[in-house]
Amino acid sequence: MNSRIITLKLASAESIASNGCKMIIGDLESEHWAETVWARSNIPKHSFMYWMAIQDRLKTRSMLKKMGILDTEDCLLCGMHEENIRHLFFDCVYSRKCLEQVKNWLGWQANINNLPSASRWINRAKITRFKKIIYAALLAGLVYNIWRCGNEVLWYQKLEKPEISIVNCCYQTCFGGIKCRWHVF
Ligand SMILES: [Zn+2]
Repeated sequence: MNSRIITLKLASAESIASNGCKMIIGDLESEHWAETVWARSNIPKHSFMYWMAIQDRLKTRSMLKKMGILDTEDCLLCGMHEENIRHLFFDCVYSRKCLEQVKNWLGWQANINNLPSASRWINRAKITRFKKIIYAALLAGLVYNIWRCGNEVLWYQKLEKPEISIVNCCYQTCFGGIKCRWHVF
């Protein structure tokens, strides 16, 4: 549990994320997802969480159980499956619902099963650069908010409805990232 808390605190520290970007991005230029993870309109703490997730560095419950820290590896969001990165993004019924709602909201028609495939799709799609930036920012916000929801369950035994998570995600992304950097809306 402590590891998970530490991870969230790190993710919340935008200054750390910003400095981390500069150190890390040089090594990622050849990765297909680097452009999406570090897209200019992403909120830094969202990018950092996205980067942790896509590299399987988040301290999931499956990982914590293997380390002997937890006795159970059940997903905090659905309680039905082992909580690992693949399940969280986006095999879980909860996160899948969130992803589908974001896709519907954007009119984003793509067959996406997991985080790498979503990142790859954004990177390779023949769409405008502005659309790519919007998709990347919302995907990063989604990853951050899904992880945050798991922590809410852990600390407060309260699971937000997917709709609330999505509103948070879109609000933070649009008003915290895209609006400030692109002066839109
Ligand atoms: Zn689940």
